[in-house]
Amino acid sequence: MTDIGIIAVGGYNEMGRNMTAIRVDEDIIIVDMGLRLDRVQIHEDVEIDKMHSLELIEMGAIPDDTIMKQVNGNVAAIVCTHGHLDHIGAIPKLAHRYTAPIIGTPYTAALIKQQIESERKFGVKNKIIPIEAGGTYQINDDVSIELIRVQHSIIDAVFVAVHTPVGAVLYACDFKLDRTPTLGEAPDFERLRELGKEGVICMIVESTNANRKGKTPSEKIAHDMVRDVLLGTEESDVGMVVTTFASHIARINSIIQVAGEMGRIPVLMGRSMDKYVVTAKNMGYIDFPKNVEIYGKRKDIDRAFKKIMSEGKEKYLPIVTGHQGEPGAILSRVASGDTPFEVESGDRIIFSANIIPSPMTQANRYALETKLKMKGARIYDDVHVSGHAYREDHWELLRMINPEHVIPAHGNIGMHSAYIEMAEDAGYILGDTVHMLRNGEELYIEE
Ligand SMILES: [Zn+2]
Repeated sequence: MTDIGIIAVGGYNEMGRNMTAIRVDEDIIIVDMGLRLDRVQIHEDVEIDKMHSLELIEMGAIPDDTIMKQVNGNVAAIVCTHGHLDHIGAIPKLAHRYTAPIIGTPYTAALIKQQIESERKFGVKNKIIPIEAGGTYQINDDVSIELIRVQHSIIDAVFVAVHTPVGAVLYACDFKLDRTPTLGEAPDFERLRELGKEGVICMIVESTNANRKGKTPSEKIAHDMVRDVLLGTEESDVGMVVTTFASHIARINSIIQVAGEMGRIPVLMGRSMDKYVVTAKNMGYIDFPKNVEIYGKRKDIDRAFKKIMSEGKEKYLPIVTGHQGEPGAILSRVASGDTPFEVESGDRIIFSANIIPSPMTQANRYALETKLKMKGARIYDDVHVSGHAYREDHWELLRMINPEHVIPAHGNIGMHSAYIEMAEDAGYILGDTVHMLRNGEELYIEE
């Protein structure tokens, strides 16, 4: 008999600070250790890199892993599914408490290394083991980990399957079933179907977009949307600025390609653009045309804006940070007239991003757009498709994997409810085969 426990550490009551522990008898595998950024942003002058874990736990910014003391077993590995901060951001604060290696795909592992290097309070010395999607890691004779390729809004994202003597536990958080991605390969459907046939005891799955009907549009659609907005115009010589997620390498790649078609020089600006994009480029995930310019430091950015103003805005396409109106990001500085770039009547600001639905971001974004409009900018909003599966994608995955038990994660209670309703349609029963877990709870499964 094997005794399996699923411990909901963080990300079950909220969006962000994801952390789940999967216990197989006395071996524990932690999946994801994330940060909830909005809990940090509401405080002024917070420097996370200098803060203590307990302080951050109290703020609700990182998972409360103190509950792990009550779990009977030893942590054998920490696995991260992808490089978004809500999945790796708490590594520098928590990982050193466990004598276990940190595992991720090569791009994720590189971002984890950078996170650890920027930490100033704790020294995280855990070994980091990069494993390619499709690869496995042996915990002991009976238990192993497998990384399965999926698609999401960042490259090199995976599902984690924990193989046990009685079947697999699948952690399926942050994915879309994109069959026509613009970068990387489609999810490994063949392996997922096979896994479903081999037998899955439990699936832990994101509920983020379970309340959105239909199917998530492919990233190919986003590519066409970007192209349509940038190229499909009579006024092709006006100033244009695009803003998007610095970690969305596929999207940035599309914008760079379209800049080429427009005959403009793409100029990436912002510290995080520099970090995510240069890392992806150095590791060979993307290939740029030679004329791409990248600036991370403030003085280099201002110098580049000066050059753009003197040589002509119509020759360049700045791709900048600040789509959520984050104070201090490039676009906010542009809107406040705090850079040499002057927004003139008819210039276009293109948001290749959604607005994160929190009152604080909404307020920031409102202020940003208002300032831009007052200078005469034309706003193109929501030139974007989501990186998270919608309801019908969830239906498909659930039937493909056919797990005995399913647990919605990566969302609030409303999102979980939407998932549970869909699972009920597929024949699951609440409290019996589909389970609602709150942070701090453990679900026991005996096989
Ligand atoms: Zn993500």
